[in-house]
Amino acid sequence: MNREHHILQRAIEDRLLDNETTVLGFMDLDGLAKSIDDLIAAFPNNFQHTFAVKANSLRHVLMKISHCGIGAEVASPGELTMAQSAGFDIRKIIFDSPAKTMDDLRQCLKHSIAFNLDNEQELERVAGMIEDYPNSEAIIGFRINPQIGSGAISSTSTATNTSKFGYPIGDAGNREKLIEYYLKYPWLTSIHTHAGSQGCPLELMAQGIGELVAVAEEINTRKGEQQITRLDIGGGLPVNFASPEVKPTFAEYAEVLRQHVPLLFTGKYSVKTEFGRAIAAKNGFMATRVEYTKNAGGRHIATTHAGAQIMTRTAFLPAAWPIRVEGFTPDGVLKTEDKVQTDVAGPCCFAADLVAKDVLIPRLDPNDYVAIYDTGAYYFSNHFDYNSLPRIAVYGVSTKSGELSIELIRRAETLSEVVSNMS
Ligand SMILES: *Cc1c(COP(=O)(O)O)cnc(C)c1O
Repeated sequence: MNREHHILQRAIEDRLLDNETTVLGFMDLDGLAKSIDDLIAAFPNNFQHTFAVKANSLRHVLMKISHCGIGAEVASPGELTMAQSAGFDIRKIIFDSPAKTMDDLRQCLKHSIAFNLDNEQELERVAGMIEDYPNSEAIIGFRINPQIGSGAISSTSTATNTSKFGYPIGDAGNREKLIEYYLKYPWLTSIHTHAGSQGCPLELMAQGIGELVAVAEEINTRKGEQQITRLDIGGGLPVNFASPEVKPTFAEYAEVLRQHVPLLFTGKYSVKTEFGRAIAAKNGFMATRVEYTKNAGGRHIATTHAGAQIMTRTAFLPAAWPIRVEGFTPDGVLKTEDKVQTDVAGPCCFAADLVAKDVLIPRLDPNDYVAIYDTGAYYFSNHFDYNSLPRIAVYGVSTKSGELSIELIRRAETLSEVVSNMS
């Protein structure tokens, strides 16, 4: 029995899952620590890692991650507050937002929080206020767009020609202008790119990071000293949603980078990473109860309680974000027989609210459970207020003295909270 099956069994024994259950989330906190260990082990120690908080901002999850020793990448005052409240050392936080206000920038300078600039207007804003903070130790970088092209999923590709992110260094004259900015502003000591996201081949990501390193080297050569000391190579390692296998691994990505951009591994620069999905996705899953089944046009349809409110991307872009499901009996036994073409549907009142469409799986019946895998990133904390459905409860799982321990780490939203959020 694999770990998820075991957790599901235990949740049924402990009556966390029963006939009243609609949908629950589980985060494997041991698995999360293991993923972070794998990340740290894959790179030499001139690399310092951060977790992209938007991927999973549950406070308990962030507390676990900060205990594992890595930092946090945040992109809004809310995420910054969450990261601080979860115990991240402020010196290990990076603030990346494409829309920082004057106040956001002042807070970063005042509290010495590292940040990356997105564009020329933001650069000039900082130039105009930096003298007010002579003691600031904030490490400031400029995000570049290496314009290497699109991955398979256009909505998460960040390095296309016309991407909204960063300074497009391939546009006429921009590379030279970037170099001049660095020579003009000696407080720019870092440079950043987040070249890919789900769907981007590793070689393409490495190519973007190669561009980052090349321009950093050129700036330092022109300056005659090493002004840029930090390279921030972003996150974006894709996750395999088709099977339980972790593929690619952090070690495989490190190997591709070693081949294409060996300078990262020499210790000349300190290197920041900002992985989100690859750290968290495979360490979470959901269980939802089948409320009803029916047949329509030859398709078996199972209506559950997990839909677009928890998995917005899967509902709206199903081809790009397919998700793996398995059915279980009400006693928690994996269903293996009698396969039929099935739509696993959610509870929302729109037709595309499907978890899985036209998949061949064992026939689901009312009160069965459906496990929905690899939902540890961009699901549990990316709630969508459709049909006034509440945020779901999430349990943290760990093994304590040989026994599986399952503890509530985020309770479900109550209906009175749903009301007050709309009032
Ligand atoms: C979203 C984001 C990340 C994390 O991306 P993943 O695909 O989850 O690894 C890292 N850096 C920046 C700037 C981001 O916007």
